[in-house]
Amino acid sequence: MKNLIRSTTQLAMHFVSLYLRDGGTAIDATCGNGNDTIALLRSGAKEIYAFDIQQAAIERTKDALIKEGLYSDQVHLIQDSHEYMGAYIKKKVQAVVFNLGYLPAASKEIATCGETTVKAVKAALRLLAVNGLICITMYSGHPGGEEEKQQVLELARNLDQQAYHVAYINMLNQRNHPPEILLISLKRGVEIEKD
Ligand code: SAM
Repeated sequence: MKNLIRSTTQLAMHFVSLYLRDGGTAIDATCGNGNDTIALLRSGAKEIYAFDIQQAAIERTKDALIKEGLYSDQVHLIQDSHEYMGAYIKKKVQAVVFNLGYLPAASKEIATCGETTVKAVKAALRLLAVNGLICITMYSGHPGGEEEKQQVLELARNLDQQAYHVAYINMLNQRNHPPEILLISLKRGVEIEKD
């Protein structure tokens, strides 16, 4: 077995894969180069909605999926901000992955930001199935990253404990702002207020 806590990415996807063992629909809220979209499909997702605001990211994800033989009519690539996911998805989803920040090897100026990320997480909460999982990987080392992380943590901290399980994973002994993982699972159906 690989050492699971060696890499945040690996650890995050391990958790997600446990929630996709019975299949279901997944959302990649920030598809970037397509690595998470591919991992979600390999983990068992039968249908996937992948969002990114950058055309280059949508193209890279499509190319990566084709290369891996995973591109099908069950893959929906959507060039739009993830806060609008509710306009595209009309069913409950088993897993939602956010990998925040900027696209590697592209402009660092196009990064997720706290205000829209919080709206997107609320949209994801509205779509989440009971016993589904939202997994958010957060990076605080780039401009705006710490503020974004704090806004997302504030939202998570205030979720009703009767309705949600929330876990927060921090690589405590790593230097230089290591990524952190936030996990949110729905225990029972609740209404999330509209913005
Ligand atoms: N999951 C990706 C992968 O596996 O390669 C990496 C994601 S990268 C860290 C973050 C991505 O979020 C970038 O591609 C960026 O364009 C995208 N992004 C930034 N703001 C966004 C928004 N409002 N809605 C959707 N995607 C956004």
